[in-house]
Amino acid sequence: MNFFEHWVLPPTCVVTGLPAERFDLLETLFLALKRPDDVCPVCCEWSLKEGGKRVLCGACLTHPPAVCRTQVGFYFSGLVRQFVYDLKYHQKPEYARLLAEMMVAEIGEELKLSGVQALLPVPLFSLRRRDRGYNQAELIAKTLGKLLGLPVLNQSVFRIKATPSQTQLTVKQRYQNLKGAFVVESDAFSSFSHIALVDDVITTGATMQVLASCIQRKTKIKCIEAWGIAKTK
Ligand SMILES: [Zn+2]
Repeated sequence: MNFFEHWVLPPTCVVTGLPAERFDLLETLFLALKRPDDVCPVCCEWSLKEGGKRVLCGACLTHPPAVCRTQVGFYFSGLVRQFVYDLKYHQKPEYARLLAEMMVAEIGEELKLSGVQALLPVPLFSLRRRDRGYNQAELIAKTLGKLLGLPVLNQSVFRIKATPSQTQLTVKQRYQNLKGAFVVESDAFSSFSHIALVDDVITTGATMQVLASCIQRKTKIKCIEAWGIAKTK
């Protein structure tokens, strides 16, 4: 929130209705959220600690993924899960801003130091976007871009295949499902070497991996990070 917004619309907790501080969630509720800190820096799955730092997991060591790093604010549970559901399925687009503000409050310093030059929201297929009225990843990226001073690349990648919901699929089926799903407008990426894909929730990371590979094939981008509000456990 900027000063003017803060003055006109002071933060009010969406859960309790009480006056809040930094954003529309009470600080005590925010501090109780679970952040993944025992995970591999590349894929965000559990990994070992060595010398005080998390090391790459076995899967990333043997098959380095297309995504160079994964950064998420929280685990997909409790209030974060509820806010994401409301954002996606209960027509609450305003929760995109709250979730992005919470993510920056949690890991903003790491995001700023990442070297990322631009954000790319994971696109939705046009019909799904029309049904919902918005793409939640675009709304999240818009607030992240504003708070971190990063441009958002809209209309740079298109999802041309109506991929059915991925939730019930195995990892292999997810990759199969996403084959030929994206078209990349390579010119849009010409001035960048390091970008982040933005989505609401990262589950297996299959969507991010497929999208990152497509972009790498069509552009000169070296490093593509995956940023999500939350990661499923
Ligand atoms: Zn890993």
